[in-house]
Amino acid sequence: MALFKKELTQKQIEKREAAILAKERELHHLEVLKQAEIDAKKEKIAPEGAYISLQNVDKIYPNHVQAVFDFNIDINEKEFIVFVGPSGCGKSTTLRMIAGLEEITAGDLYIDGKYSNDIQPKDRKIGMVFQSYALFPHMTVYENIAFPLEVAKLNKDEIEKRVVEAAKILQISEYLDRKPNALSGGQMQRVALGRVIVTNSKIFLMDEPLSNLDAKLRVAMRSEIVKLHKKLNTTTIYVTHDQTEAMTMADRIVVMNKGYVQQIGTPTEIFNKPANMFVATFVGSPSMNMINGVLKNDRFFIEENFSLKMGQEFTEKIKKFYENEILSTEKLLKQWSDKFLSRQTNSQRYLNIFKNNKINLGALKNFINCLDNSALTSLNLEKANLIEKFSKETDIDNIKNELNTILKEYLMEYHKTNNPDIRNHFNNINRFKEVLNGETIPLCLGIRPEHLILTDVVEEETLSLEVSVSELLGSEYFIHLPFMDLDLVAKLPVKKDIVTGDKINLNFDMEKIHFFDPISTKKIA
Ligand code: ADP
Repeated sequence: MALFKKELTQKQIEKREAAILAKERELHHLEVLKQAEIDAKKEKIAPEGAYISLQNVDKIYPNHVQAVFDFNIDINEKEFIVFVGPSGCGKSTTLRMIAGLEEITAGDLYIDGKYSNDIQPKDRKIGMVFQSYALFPHMTVYENIAFPLEVAKLNKDEIEKRVVEAAKILQISEYLDRKPNALSGGQMQRVALGRVIVTNSKIFLMDEPLSNLDAKLRVAMRSEIVKLHKKLNTTTIYVTHDQTEAMTMADRIVVMNKGYVQQIGTPTEIFNKPANMFVATFVGSPSMNMINGVLKNDRFFIEENFSLKMGQEFTEKIKKFYENEILSTEKLLKQWSDKFLSRQTNSQRYLNIFKNNKINLGALKNFINCLDNSALTSLNLEKANLIEKFSKETDIDNIKNELNTILKEYLMEYHKTNNPDIRNHFNNINRFKEVLNGETIPLCLGIRPEHLILTDVVEEETLSLEVSVSELLGSEYFIHLPFMDLDLVAKLPVKKDIVTGDKINLNFDMEKIHFFDPISTKKIA
């Protein structure tokens, strides 16, 4: 039989896997919608103390693309929160769900103690500022700022009072008669801010408001917005892809990647205790140096002749981490396995077999004939044998139990072969086990450029390297040092000249080093 099996080309395999993932996304979308419908009927209790709260929020677009996965945060009143991450990571989608401009697929949103998933955007007491200022070109600055108040039909005196006050705060009083085309980018953004300030909104949402401005103006506007926040004390969520903006403006930062929250914390926490390799390298400039090596005999070897003493306790900690990773991945796979089985046992083709509490042999044959041959072969099973085996059995419960046992194994085997997500989990378990059983443990050491310390004394754990590029930035140097296949970067104070070709000695600040698991990319120590 196998002799005639046509080998699939790499392209065909990729196409097949993509189709399976697409199907998986579609099924997942339907399941999430079904569960959300059930959850929507449950009693909604606002979490205490949080002014804005997102609980288990998912966003799946109609094309089944999931833009946001399980977003959870409690935001305090008056807090300045920044969502940061690369383009496409789900920042705007999350912001738009809070604003009510995008439907929440699953999960709960509370604003000011009220369940808000179904509240109309205009009733959410939210003011929004976008990257494009969205000003009306034919209206003056005054009219632009007054616009939302005109729509809300406030009286003329109240409108004037609020516009004048907002213009004063934003220092644009002298431009009130101008049209937007006679304003600079920074001034236009102020007008956009003014239009939000006058509404007395309790919440400001800002989506990349400074990205159209040049670098210098951005820095200036950055501190203006922070000052404005201090003055108005409005709960603010600010979206940016710029980590410097996040670090300098936020009370708390939410780092996102690929739709997942990576870490939530104050700028100091995010900088000093990054949760994983993504956060570690995304925040900080220049980026954290990432150096691969192996842990052996309680020492971390970067190369054969260079290692750092870590101690036995460190090794124990790392091993414990991998043991926990195995357990949690196994748990995850068990959840997947239950889900795959439940999908099958709820399918019409399966239900047909047991219709009216009788065995329908035709339906059983049909069901088995639709199973995938290669997955069955891997488990030493054959369709004909299965059909024969079940034909002999008469007890419904026995058939159900046996069929489900076989199906569970079959489905996992099928997904292990064809579904890259599931395959990765299996591969990870194998790699974690290999690591635990091996003599060496591969790890990734992270050290920020400012935590490499220049020294004159060469000791056992001192790196002596040749400078390839020396960048002088006023009070400090960025020094590039080729080291194995890395471009190691050190940030050093300017004490003496450092030029290309110099040999310099560096120690690791052992209090400031991080270790990451190269498989899961999580921080271990
Ligand atoms: P960010 O603001 O971080 O750049 P977005 O929230 O705009 O990211 O987008 C997150 C993901 O959702 C991206 O992969 C994007 O392509 C996708 N996306 C955004 N809007 C839609 C839409 N209307 N339909 C389908 N996918 C969308």
